Amino acid sequence: MTGPVPLHAMRLVFLGPPGAGKGTQAQILAARFGARQIATGDILRRNVADGTELGKKAKAFMDAGSLVADDVIVAMMERELGVGAPFILDGFPRTVAQAEALDGMLARLALPLGAALQFDADRDVLIERLAGRWTNPRTGRTYHTLFNPPRVAGIDDEDGGPLVQRPDDSRDVVSERLATYDAKTKPLVDYYAHAGLLQRIAGLQPIEAVTADVLRALGADGSGGLVA
Ligand code: AMP
Repeated sequence: MTGPVPLHAMRLVFLGPPGAGKGTQAQILAARFGARQIATGDILRRNVADGTELGKKAKAFMDAGSLVADDVIVAMMERELGVGAPFILDGFPRTVAQAEALDGMLARLALPLGAALQFDADRDVLIERLAGRWTNPRTGRTYHTLFNPPRVAGIDDEDGGPLVQRPDDSRDVVSERLATYDAKTKPLVDYYAHAGLLQRIAGLQPIEAVTADVLRALGADGSGGLVA
């Protein structure tokens, strides 16, 4: 096939530590190009809130800032990915075993990945960002008291729903989540570099500047096409 690949046909993985901006950028791109944002953390939190079997299996790990078991996550993602492309995976894979399982699933579905974007950010800033973060538990949309405040404190601009501070955004659990990231998820940077899919994005810029870098990294032209 020649010519630009439409961005709305992309299948993307968003990597990076908690607070680096994966979710914010995934929401922006998904809305702009009609892709599905598949945020594993949001799916898990909905399951915890609904008291499902999956939620019961996940809760203790989430509260502690560690990872839910690979087989539980992979089974969940098999259901999600069966629904169809395009998609932005936000928070999955988080281990090499999950990345290998994803490769297998996508090979079976004949849906190759387009790119893996790594959002980089310094530890101190991540702790600061997560401490000021407010989340809509229903949609996963996030705000920040300083950097991206809602029009009315505690209320989502979009749907008027209440915003909450996630219990695992507290400083103690955040240090644990960052340690988990370093030990389990960071190796995926090399994994996707070897696969020739990795693009690095400086996550510490203002939201619009990060979006511009993301579009540039994906080779998006003005019409939302991708230059091959
Ligand atoms: P997040 O909203 O992406 O920060 O995820 C919140 C929590 O959900 C994480 O700290 C993990 O406990 C769990 N979780 C989310 N995605 C995964 C995954 N791919 N593998 C294992 N655990 C996950």
